[in-house]
Amino acid sequence: MDNRIVYLDNNGTTQMADEVVKAVDQAEFLYGNASSMHGLGRDAEAAIEVARTQVASLIDCKHGRIIFNSGASESNNTVFNIFRDRIDDKIDARTRIVTTVIEHPSIIETVKYLKKKGYRIDECPVDKTGRVDLDVMAKLMGPDVALVSVMTGNNETGTIQPVDEIARLAHACGAYMHTDATQAIGKIPVAMEKSGFDYLSLSGHKFYGPKGVGVLAVAKNAPYCPFLHGGHQEQGLRAGTYNTAAIVGIGVASSLAQRDLKVEHDRLWNLREMLRKGLTEAIPSVVVNGATNPEYILPGTLDMSFPSAEGESILLYLDLEGIEVSTGSACASGSLEPSYVLLASGIDIELAHGSIRFSFGRYNTEDDVRYVIEKMPPIIERLRKMSTR
Ligand code: PMP
Repeated sequence: MDNRIVYLDNNGTTQMADEVVKAVDQAEFLYGNASSMHGLGRDAEAAIEVARTQVASLIDCKHGRIIFNSGASESNNTVFNIFRDRIDDKIDARTRIVTTVIEHPSIIETVKYLKKKGYRIDECPVDKTGRVDLDVMAKLMGPDVALVSVMTGNNETGTIQPVDEIARLAHACGAYMHTDATQAIGKIPVAMEKSGFDYLSLSGHKFYGPKGVGVLAVAKNAPYCPFLHGGHQEQGLRAGTYNTAAIVGIGVASSLAQRDLKVEHDRLWNLREMLRKGLTEAIPSVVVNGATNPEYILPGTLDMSFPSAEGESILLYLDLEGIEVSTGSACASGSLEPSYVLLASGIDIELAHGSIRFSFGRYNTEDDVRYVIEKMPPIIERLRKMSTR
């Protein structure tokens, strides 16, 4: 066995880009508190404002607010918290939220909490490819809907949702539109104002930025209230001392994502397709989960099921070969439950148990793909021989 590592868990998290590492390193010298009025404070503040412009440019948010925070989990919670306040304070007579069955747990669990607060929640189903049906979505709209929240691209299957059309449906009934764009950033164009999103969540570590830093973008006239109170940072919109270096890092990552979007999209798609074809030819009876139309799937995501082989066993055998993948989402791993995203897409429970997610990033090469195509068939063969299923 060589010491080779083939990292194919980029939807779980990414390695920081060299340019980001360098910028974060230099920004460590900006140790002044960005809220302080002295020179060092002002230097830190200036660096944060550059990052704000870089993020705003990446996601086409010219007129809205870019609020820096700890990541997409916080962004998602913040959005739902705004609507919890609106029902608590009787600001809004609308008492329904429309979302989908395949959202990230930071939405699914938060929505459960809102249910206790009196909201009615409608979770739109998805088809076999993991995509919502627009006709079903349209039927869920109504004058009582306060918020529609649909992710741009799914972390497990990579399926892209028709979020522009959904935003139009939401606005037509006077509701606000949120999208969790965490997985889409840097892979497909994401344009907040053009698409008409009122809220957008993202996390730096999913596109070669630092971990623990993210953004909630809020459109100009969308309601907002802070989730974290107790500081005047972000004009009172999010309390807590600025993590200047991480914010500088997410800014640089945003510029790289914007610069390389087209090239990266095509490169990731080619690697994904090379692996899909290679494994389909080399291993009998594999099933590809998620969408097949390239317009409906994030380019670097490949979710496959290997019947009669357990996903967790495949993962561990691949790990022994230095190939790092995931079963279901990283957030759900640690439990042996099959992926709720696959089950919600109507995928058979046995297939869901045997699913593996390969997710490519900017540091993967064709050589990585060849390595997986060489190492994987004997692993599946061995596991299938051992299987009692
Ligand atoms: N939304 C999606 C779609 C994600 O994939 C993730 C990360 N797995 C999150 C939200 C949460 O991001 P973070 O853990 O950085 O807060």
